[in-house]
Amino acid sequence: MAWTERQREMLQAMGLRVWAPPAEDEAAVAAPCVAEPSVAPPVAATRPSGPPAPAARTVPARSDAVPAIAPESTRAKAPAAPTSMEQAARPAAAVTEEQARRARHIATLDWPALRAEVEQCRACSLCESRKQVVFGTGHVQARWMVVGEAPGEQEDLQGEPFVGVSGQLLDSMLRALGLTRAADGEQPAAQRVYIANTLKCRPPRNRNPEAAEMLQCEPFLVRQIELIRPSLILAMGRFAVQALLRSSEPVGKLRGKVHRYQGVPLVVTYHPAYLLRNLPDKARAWDDLCLAASVAEGDGTHVASP
Ligand code: URA
Repeated sequence: MAWTERQREMLQAMGLRVWAPPAEDEAAVAAPCVAEPSVAPPVAATRPSGPPAPAARTVPARSDAVPAIAPESTRAKAPAAPTSMEQAARPAAAVTEEQARRARHIATLDWPALRAEVEQCRACSLCESRKQVVFGTGHVQARWMVVGEAPGEQEDLQGEPFVGVSGQLLDSMLRALGLTRAADGEQPAAQRVYIANTLKCRPPRNRNPEAAEMLQCEPFLVRQIELIRPSLILAMGRFAVQALLRSSEPVGKLRGKVHRYQGVPLVVTYHPAYLLRNLPDKARAWDDLCLAASVAEGDGTHVASP
């Protein structure tokens, strides 16, 4: 893959050099995406059932600033496949009958109704402190879906996910792959990304999401994924991993493989906020993006059969 000037700029913005590395610096250098990732051979995994593992605190406070992006179109897609809907609405062990009923209801909503439901949500105490909900952004017919953690201060103010410092890094990473969150209809399908968070409301002082909050918010993310039906989900950070894979394994152990969420290939990578503090792992994140790109481009060699 030959880098364009813009891609070089983006990789440099990510802190990755793109020229031939001196031997001692190899690990910190971005290599062009190739068909095979420079990680262990991928292993498929399916999402186990059961409630999310309790959230522990490690992701740092988020801060931020960058322009908001066009909203998703309001056109609804055809109803989602019943199997997936049923699975989404299926009560986990810790889910009450009311929560299961609510999940079944959310699983029937189209885009406008889903957005309205999120905007009116008072299912957990985060509604008391939020300035506004952060629903999601990007093209609703996106091939890529990026799932983060929760809105930070800027996202809470602007109503858009990843508009702060973490978002700048995320946008640089996406641009390096020729992807965009823009939803103006100009982009080919392969370049479109939809971005959503595990939680739609900001936790006070950017504290970590709590298990009960994740449980209440999960049906919204489930429905977003069903409406978009992406070719690839990029789960960034351990809360996205907990929500989608039901795994409390560290990101470092789950990355480098192709997992599956409701049949959709899912690649795990580090959260941008973590990468901002751990520069050496940017090279690994780039490997993850290359793996994700190869899956999204339909190189089926990385995904085992469901
Ligand atoms: N971090 C996230 O996980 N999501 C955002 O929207 C912003 C920062």
